[in-house]
Amino acid sequence: MVNHIQCTTHIQGSPLQYEVKWSERARRLRLSVTIDGVLVTLPRGTAAAEAERFIQQNSAWLGEQLRKLERRQAKARSQSLPGDVILLRGKPTQVRVIEEEGRRVQALVRETGSRLEVLLPEGAGSKKGKVLENAMREMARDELNRAVTTHARAMRVSPKGINIRDQRTRWGSCSTRGTLSFNWRLVMAPPEVLNYVVVHELAHLRVPNHSREFWNLVSQYFPAYKEARLWLKRNAARLHPNLN
Ligand SMILES: [Zn+2]
Repeated sequence: MVNHIQCTTHIQGSPLQYEVKWSERARRLRLSVTIDGVLVTLPRGTAAAEAERFIQQNSAWLGEQLRKLERRQAKARSQSLPGDVILLRGKPTQVRVIEEEGRRVQALVRETGSRLEVLLPEGAGSKKGKVLENAMREMARDELNRAVTTHARAMRVSPKGINIRDQRTRWGSCSTRGTLSFNWRLVMAPPEVLNYVVVHELAHLRVPNHSREFWNLVSQYFPAYKEARLWLKRNAARLHPNLN
């Protein structure tokens, strides 16, 4: 029996993906918006078309919830850590900007112990944020590629490709064609959290929804997934530092 389906619709002119779940306990239709996405819960025996009707009926409320979620994350993005400290692989890391006199070569970021040094040509200090972000994206790409290779082999799945993005409200996603996308900001999280997100998206290649079957699969390959989820929930703001 199918307990979960994925659907796509439009509300207020924007495409919307949502998940429909049938529950034994639900007495009426329920709509929820979380960082995992939009979920409609239906009492057992209700037709899927009812979910679509319910979404359209509540599109104004839903639009407001989605905007609220985005505003919360935008606010988190603008909150900088004290001084010039960012998280890198879960560890607070001092960022030092060095403007080199007469430096002709391109900007450079290097890791030295627990520090990140951003070397810039003289007078290019304002480029620091962009240079740092690009360097961290590259680190993220390396680490995510490595983690995907390792876990995909263990889980016997083969993703079609990997994209590194800055998704506003998500850490990762899995397209219906089997391409995985990850947020470069995961390089700031502890390695186990990055690994959890990788296992989560790889598990979607086998189970495309968040049913019990899905979580069983995740826990089989990443038993401490609850802790990782909690870490992301609590520390999302720290992964959106003001880099400038
Ligand atoms: Zn998921």
